[in-house]
Amino acid sequence: MTNHPIGELLPPTRLMLTPGPSCMDPRVYRAMATPIVGHLDPWFTEMMGDVQVQLRKVFKTENRITYPISASGSGGIEAAVLNALEENDTCIICVNGWFSERMAVIAERAPGVTVIRVEAPYGRTVDPDDIRRAAKGKKIKFVGLTHGETSSGVMQDLNLYRGIADELDALLVVDAVASLAGVALDVDRQRIDICFSGTQKALSAPPGMAPITVGSRVEEIIRRRKTPVCSWYFDMAPVMNYWGKERTYHHTPPISLIYGLREALRCVLEEGLEKRIERHRQNQLALVAGLEAMGLEMFVTNPADRLVTVTAVRVPKSLHEQTIREQLLDEFDIEIASGFGPVKGQIWRVGLMGYSSQKNNVLLFLAAFEKVLLDHDFRVPAGAGVGAAVRTYLQSVASDQPVAVGASIR
Ligand SMILES: *Cc1c(COP(=O)(O)O)cnc(C)c1O
Repeated sequence: MTNHPIGELLPPTRLMLTPGPSCMDPRVYRAMATPIVGHLDPWFTEMMGDVQVQLRKVFKTENRITYPISASGSGGIEAAVLNALEENDTCIICVNGWFSERMAVIAERAPGVTVIRVEAPYGRTVDPDDIRRAAKGKKIKFVGLTHGETSSGVMQDLNLYRGIADELDALLVVDAVASLAGVALDVDRQRIDICFSGTQKALSAPPGMAPITVGSRVEEIIRRRKTPVCSWYFDMAPVMNYWGKERTYHHTPPISLIYGLREALRCVLEEGLEKRIERHRQNQLALVAGLEAMGLEMFVTNPADRLVTVTAVRVPKSLHEQTIREQLLDEFDIEIASGFGPVKGQIWRVGLMGYSSQKNNVLLFLAAFEKVLLDHDFRVPAGAGVGAAVRTYLQSVASDQPVAVGASIR
């Protein structure tokens, strides 16, 4: 072991075009560098209330129970599933990728619970008829699914699954980690009983928190539980005493992360949700047009099923998935993601989430990607990707209003 002094922390400047973490607005970094204040300090508890007000606006809900869980997005899955389930309950989980699989695995760990998996292959949405068939004759507590399945780039229509859950008289539990603030979502109108997200995706806040919101039906279920939630940390009732009126200690929250989230939410609301969603849509359209013009194939064949925040691209047979990604990082400081599970080595995933979803980034990525592909003898007509993206932006120019948040988001 060498005993050299460890130098000052100097991370490289990377452009993160992954399914999270996304790049953050400089305002968010500044907020995180402000002084720590005690988590029971009246100034801090008042500030928590502001965060909750903003979160309700982004989730589009009046739900009392709305707060950021002190855990990554996966902690949101744990809290949602474990608080809703009690012994002898049966739930249905729609499994069409890595994260919906995770929801099923978490539910299966709850004692005395029956979990029915209704599956679809990566790249596809779950068939509602499969849910109906699986539920036949059973009392279903909830139907759980991912809105945006980050592992495959698939988005599912929440209204469709709300309809099925209504037929079954079941709750609807939605993982919106990859979609909140990047894709249209309306918790109250779409009657989502439990909806949770992650901070490091389209919200472009620091990683490490999972905003969650819970409707009145679930609040009642939690109140009437006969057995304690099988997790102390994720038991929502005592945490809500801290995020509710009482402000009584449960655990020390990640104060600096909450500062960052507060500022990120301010960015979202200043820009306006509708404008932000449209920005995400335009940038993905340009990205897809560019990739297709380069001769690449989208993994999700039906455009209506594509998740706007994450685009999955098939790796051509002649190319090595990892080599291309590594060169993009080394030569251009651009990070994109691989596939995992059954699509490992078969797809790249390009995230355009939150602050990362900008015209500059789309055009830079397409140009850099072309250079790297050409280095590996994949024939791309020169400038094809950037050209197609530019044409997409020109077509959308009529609806393209300048955005309010800093001049830097395009
Ligand atoms: C990223 C992601 C998660 C997990 O979030 P972590 O912060 O990595 O724990 C869960 N679900 C979806 C849909 C995601 O995209």
